[in-house]
Amino acid sequence: MRNLGGSSAAGTPAGRGGVPRNICGAVPLYDFRCQRCEERFEALAGVSAGAACPSCGSEEVERVYSAFAGPFTVGLRGQAAKRSNATRAVREEQRRERKEARRQQREGS
Ligand SMILES: [Zn+2]
Repeated sequence: MRNLGGSSAAGTPAGRGGVPRNICGAVPLYDFRCQRCEERFEALAGVSAGAACPSCGSEEVERVYSAFAGPFTVGLRGQAAKRSNATRAVREEQRRERKEARRQQREGS
């Protein structure tokens, strides 16, 4: 179970990405992904003929049914999400190295 300070259920996850997501509001937002540049963006549902990518302007976008949408993923999309995945991998690697170093120290002494 992950609980970010216990405040995540109280209100809107403001301050993450700067765009408050309207979870229970009257305006449903849907996630889209650009098929050309893989930019992730949000658009209002029911917009005529879909949406266009704000990054490259392509209309080859697909609706993303956000299975993992939630307070934890708000603000991480597109390049930012990719970058965070990369940093997480690096961090994982560093932790493994540190653990390995500690183990060798213990064995050495
Ligand atoms: Zn695009």
